[in-house]
Amino acid sequence: MKKPLVLRMIPVLIISILLAFLYTCSDDDNSNVDNTNFVMTESDRAALIFMLEEEKLARDTYIYLNDLWSINQFANIKNSEQAHMNLVENLLIQNAIEYTILPVGDFENQNLQDFYDQFVIDGTLSSANAFQIGATIEDLDIKDLQDFLDVSSHPNLIAVFEKLQCGSRNHLRSFVSGIENGGNTYTPQFLTQDEFDLIISGTQEQCN
Ligand code: MN
Ligand code: MN
Repeated sequence: MKKPLVLRMIPVLIISILLAFLYTCSDDDNSNVDNTNFVMTESDRAALIFMLEEEKLARDTYIYLNDLWSINQFANIKNSEQAHMNLVENLLIQNAIEYTILPVGDFENQNLQDFYDQFVIDGTLSSANAFQIGATIEDLDIKDLQDFLDVSSHPNLIAVFEKLQCGSRNHLRSFVSGIENGGNTYTPQFLTQDEFDLIISGTQEQCN
């Protein structure tokens, strides 16, 4: 005797449900590839807040040194630091992370405030000193960005920090050439000598 239609339909229903389930799962996997759905960890958030102020340290210091010495590099690179701040700020906004940007020369992070205060004093001594300060900031920036890159797996954070690092390598080369044109040398304080040499031996990079 033939089974009723309802019973014959059961295997079809089970297969349909399984297929729908598999499809939903693979759909979830796809949404993970979409960067905007990636969850920021607590350490990613702290990294963004810190880097916003470290880029501000660069911008504010170059504003100060440009006013003091009217050197092209400081005028150009301060604009690049503002662009770097904007990139980090965009990520903070996208991820609904609260942040504050204090007035020029003021920092929430005490270490960054101490750096700025020292740069303001040292920067007045000579234009050669101003170049040393520029190289110091880029040296620190590349190192800090690398430390954050080493522990993050957030695609948007990684993309922005790599772009900032690319800019910093160009800035470091520019300041070091200013130092060398003045007959002096720069000794890396945060990067290793090998890391530093590798960057200096490279040429201007396109950071898009
Ligand atoms: Mn920068
Ligand atoms: Mn820079």
